[in-house]
Amino acid sequence: MSETAFSGRRAYRDLGLYKPDRTFCRIDLSDNTNAWGMPPEARRALADASSFARYPSLYADDLKDALSDYTGVPASMISTGCGSDDVLDSALRAFAEPGDAIAYPEPTFPAIPIFARMNSLVPVPVPMSAGYDLDAKAMLSARSRIIYACSPNNPTGNAIPKSTLEELVQRLADDQILIIDEAYAEFAGVSAVDLIESCDRLIITRTMSKAFGLAGLRIGYALGNATLIAEVEKSRGPYKVSAAAERAAYVALTQDRAWVNEHVDLVLANRARLEGALRERGLCPIPSAANFVFFPIDNAIEVARCMRAVGVAVRAFAEPSGLRITVGTWPQIEEALAAFDEARRECA
Ligand code: PMP
Repeated sequence: MSETAFSGRRAYRDLGLYKPDRTFCRIDLSDNTNAWGMPPEARRALADASSFARYPSLYADDLKDALSDYTGVPASMISTGCGSDDVLDSALRAFAEPGDAIAYPEPTFPAIPIFARMNSLVPVPVPMSAGYDLDAKAMLSARSRIIYACSPNNPTGNAIPKSTLEELVQRLADDQILIIDEAYAEFAGVSAVDLIESCDRLIITRTMSKAFGLAGLRIGYALGNATLIAEVEKSRGPYKVSAAAERAAYVALTQDRAWVNEHVDLVLANRARLEGALRERGLCPIPSAANFVFFPIDNAIEVARCMRAVGVAVRAFAEPSGLRITVGTWPQIEEALAAFDEARRECA
């Protein structure tokens, strides 16, 4: 086929696809999903396909009602989407003009600079402190249209202290929007949701991909002032949550909460054991408030490659060099630790 002279919009020219290694691995602790699978009632609900020949609801109103009950936030202050990826992307498009800046801590969720560039925004990474704390003053002084903060932060796992989030809220300029990404909130036991009442420029994003075990169905949501949420809904567009996803999510929220809580407790217990096992090996895991643990290590990319060769997938980061391991079942973690020990010997 002859090469076409046509290329897409200018902002996409140097943009690659988001493509972490997702090839099958016997034990996959690389993507922070729920190692125990999907909650039972949600799984059962998917067997009834009687309505799937029709379009889903326009803006997932039933799901918003269930999320309202779960979060304590009125349905008018909730937007849903095809994963929180979609909600974040829609929020950037809703609040920033092409050329506006978005400040975010470095390191953080790698999709943020990609979403920024997809929306013709200027990504402004703001280094974290040496102890991986968010530098609120530096974030504010970037004077960006949007400030993105992730708590607990991916990949470092630490939660942002409430006082830091309050400082961001209090010192936000009139024309700035603050997005707090709480994809891992269920594992942290703390949330910034109460700040929504006092700040009409705050959006909190959440997901059902982690604690709720529904990553494949793609369900995310945003919480915020009703006026902001209406703008996110416009930017998101209709029919973004499929009928199957809305059904399963609704049932998970109304009938599977005990299962979810039980498995969050298992994650917390295994997380403490994993952090202990890493410390016993002389490593310094960052105290995690999420369902994964990050620890700095030299040659992280090479160590992860050796682990993958024996069937264990973890996520490696080059800058700063470190490994992120999803907290799975204890037998999975034991295998991951054995693969890690072997990989370390090989890479030494
Ligand atoms: N935010 C953070 C911090 C994440 O780590 C992820 C997924 N890894 C997402 C958002 C997106 O999650 P989803 O689109 O599955 O809701």
